[in-house]
Amino acid sequence: PTGGPSPRRVLLKLSGEVFGGGSIGLDADVVAGVAKQIAEANAAGVQIAIVVGGGNFFRGADLSQRGLDRSRADYMGMLGTVMNALALQDFLEQAGVRTRVQTAITMGQVAEPYIPLRAVRHLEKGRVVIFGAGAGMPFFSTDTVSAQRALETHCDEVLVGKNGVDGVYTADPNIDPTATRLDHVTYGDALRQGLRVVDAAAFSLCMDNGLTMRVFGMNTPGNVTRALLGEKIGTLVTV
Ligand code: UDP
Repeated sequence: PTGGPSPRRVLLKLSGEVFGGGSIGLDADVVAGVAKQIAEANAAGVQIAIVVGGGNFFRGADLSQRGLDRSRADYMGMLGTVMNALALQDFLEQAGVRTRVQTAITMGQVAEPYIPLRAVRHLEKGRVVIFGAGAGMPFFSTDTVSAQRALETHCDEVLVGKNGVDGVYTADPNIDPTATRLDHVTYGDALRQGLRVVDAAAFSLCMDNGLTMRVFGMNTPGNVTRALLGEKIGTLVTV
């Protein structure tokens, strides 16, 4: 409350794909590299909250195809996100960043429970807060949780790091060679045109609440730091 401009506060969504380096389990080198980039932005004073996915371990929808009850499979998926949260926490601490993990499923020995006001306090103190276990509810995705957590902790923006693409395209660039990257797109157009870089629930939550999103490619070195610092890379999605 010094009257100065309030510091930038962002929510970074990292999918499980990032943690696995494209395969199942954990690619320590990749996670360490991402942690270093986050550390840089943290040192520059950006307040950073992170939602981690879990697709490198389990996706509930995939498991239920193999005969498991969908809700139980989703809980397994959520537990996978916690392992990613702990891995990221470790590499961030090694990079000199103070961190807290908060999980939507209570597990006192490994993390704090999700307490929004406390999360905000951590952010104000310069700690990176990692949210694990999604929303704690089956049938949700970590994309949707990213929008929800960003709203509840008053983040300025949601930043979605992607592995295969460097933004939102007019069509899937892996299928359609004429697809071009958009600098800006509205939630309405993205939804109407089926440009599903994040799921529809996440898009509509952002749309309904006027939260902007930036989708960027993780493959270019330094891009995580750039996005966190507010550089205009990738695609901006707005109302
Ligand atoms: N999940 C869930 N509720 C949530 C968040 C996640 O049930 O609030 C489960 C769901 O089964 C999902 C899995 O956790 O498939 C991993 O999350 P997600 O698929 O969003 O991870 P990502 O695709 O980002 O790696």
